[in-house]
Amino acid sequence: MYAAPFSYYRAASVQEAAKLLQELGEEARVIAGGQSLIPLMKMRMARPTALIDINFIPGLSDVQTPKGELRFGALVRHADLEHSAAGATLPILHDCAAGIADVQVRNLGTIGGSLAEADPSGDWGTALLALDTAVICSGPSGQRTVPLENFITDAYTTVLAHDEIVTEVRVKVPSKNSGGAHLAFKRSAPVYPTASASVQLTLGDQNMCKDARVVLGCVGLKAIRAKEAEGVLRGKPLDEKNIWAAVDAARAAADPQSDMRGSADYKRVLVGALVHRAIEIAARRARGESMEAGHEYAGR
Ligand SMILES: Cc1cc2nc3c(=O)[nH]c(=O)nc-3n(C[C@H](O)[C@H](O)[C@H](O)COP(=O)(O)OP(=O)(O)OC[C@H]3O[C@@H](n4cnc5c(N)ncnc54)[C@H](O)[C@@H]3O)c2cc1C
Repeated sequence: MYAAPFSYYRAASVQEAAKLLQELGEEARVIAGGQSLIPLMKMRMARPTALIDINFIPGLSDVQTPKGELRFGALVRHADLEHSAAGATLPILHDCAAGIADVQVRNLGTIGGSLAEADPSGDWGTALLALDTAVICSGPSGQRTVPLENFITDAYTTVLAHDEIVTEVRVKVPSKNSGGAHLAFKRSAPVYPTASASVQLTLGDQNMCKDARVVLGCVGLKAIRAKEAEGVLRGKPLDEKNIWAAVDAARAAADPQSDMRGSADYKRVLVGALVHRAIEIAARRARGESMEAGHEYAGR
């Protein structure tokens, strides 16, 4: 099906995009990679009267690395991250980027669009929550920095005002002896995961877990930080007993719905298995091991 008619505007600056959003009203939408918006428009589930293309705004595709931080312009594509030095530095970013859909989607879809879309099954909202991430929102009255934890408020809902756009995503580089992993289980490549889990650990001496973040994806209206699971690991030896206790706490934190991807019970078991594996991989990476990880496909 073709999309309903709309007018097209090409913004040359963030200010112009914000002004156009104000002038064109609530039915106008920003378009970045178009990998969520265009399919919805074709299915007539979204009917924006105007699209404001931000792809030609200079600077929004930049990756910057000031001390202790990684800064991704909103238009950085999944594929850019997949092949970037940032992905090599923080493997959790590579796990996430490399597993999203197929090459075509990864070449067009953007990190900013993914967070703004706030799809409960989206990978970036989960993986980036395992890190210390902030979202820069820019509008007519300037910029504000919103911790990712507060940015997505519900399924498909963020704190963005209608005339604001995401311009940058900032990630603090974790301290040394840290490692992370993002694992997602999918029925096939070009579909969203059935469940996902992101874990970021910092290890101390004698296998002690100094810090932990455990995040669950696709099992709630937004990514869930399993804080009880984190508490079970933090300050304790990273042994099987504590890992399984964290898995149990993560399962309890999940709030899955039954749908075409599986029953709620199945997803709860699945997310626990993903958390267990993600903890093991994150720990090995924290110890300096280089390991491939990422999306797993049914039947493989
Ligand atoms: C077949 C298929 C499979 C997919 N599988 C996965 C998957 O497994 N995992 C996953 O995470 N994603 C998946 N995706 C989605 C993909 O990652 C999209 O790229 C992403 O969700 C949206 O990014 P985009 O740049 O394409 O945004 P667009 O489609 O351009 O926009 C999406 C929404 O965000 C708004 N928006 C975009 N950019 C901004 C901005 N900078 N500021 C404010 N608002 C903005 C738009 O107005 C729109 O409402 C899949 C998509 C397809 C088509």
